[in-house]
Amino acid sequence: MQTVKTRSQTKSTVQRWKQAGESVAFVPTMGNLHEGHLKLVDTARQHADKVVVSIFVNPAQFGKNEDIDSYPRELELDSKKLAERGVDLLFAPETNEIYADDTSQATWVEVPKLSSILCGEFRPVHFVGVTTIVAKLFNIVQPDVAIFGEKDFQQLFLIRKMVNDLDFPVKIIGMPTEREADGLAMSSRNSYLSAQERKQAPLLYQALNQLASEIKTSSDDYRKSEENAAKFIENAGFMVDYVSIRRVSDLQPASHQDHEIVILAAARLGKTRLIDNIAINI
Ligand code: AMP
Repeated sequence: MQTVKTRSQTKSTVQRWKQAGESVAFVPTMGNLHEGHLKLVDTARQHADKVVVSIFVNPAQFGKNEDIDSYPRELELDSKKLAERGVDLLFAPETNEIYADDTSQATWVEVPKLSSILCGEFRPVHFVGVTTIVAKLFNIVQPDVAIFGEKDFQQLFLIRKMVNDLDFPVKIIGMPTEREADGLAMSSRNSYLSAQERKQAPLLYQALNQLASEIKTSSDDYRKSEENAAKFIENAGFMVDYVSIRRVSDLQPASHQDHEIVILAAARLGKTRLIDNIAINI
């Protein structure tokens, strides 16, 4: 595996491959890699001749009081894991390779409205940071295919919308959430959890499962069911940002007329913000 830190090295390597007629799959990450990330890499290998992974903790997607300074950085370990999984190129730039300085970025890629609902309501700058960095990385790496996790359901939705609206020549593939044995969605941020919090954490997924089976049979208004689930999660020691039953098609609040549904939740356990979701057909 080749590891590079600059945009020009990444571009020239990919250009060489493309001239030789090889296709490229791309997996963007923020590092501290777990099996969820590595499953995306395995899928990338099935879809193209060459696999590029990026590791970049993107400052633009963190709010002022968020965890950019404490975000776990494990480049050496990550790089070993990626080499073992057969990755061809690791692009691991420093911040100033991507954003020249704090004031120079004048252009932002935003999917309005959809970026300010759900997680966007609680993390106002987050999704503009995400769509901007993904657009930049797509322009640097020029992949044929890019793989993302359904764990970040709203993020995947926004990226598909951006790619469609701006005609990026990239096929987007979404992969199911990889979980620990007790159901907790794997996340780089799980390493913030204390031993006690780690025991409580799977309850979020349990609550989503419970809500999913309830709404399949109950005729209660969905808003009432969301409230009850939020109370249940709060009683278990979380601070709930939201529990929301949405349509898969447009991420708007779902009603009993809708069939393809996703239940999304975000809740804090101590200083760790956990998100999860379940998609169901009714
Ligand atoms: P991150 O490093 O958190 O920015 O995530 C990089 C990519 O990995 C994103 O597409 C995430 O949705 C995906 N991802 C993170 N956690 C999981 C998981 N548990 N299962 C599947 N994909 C995941």
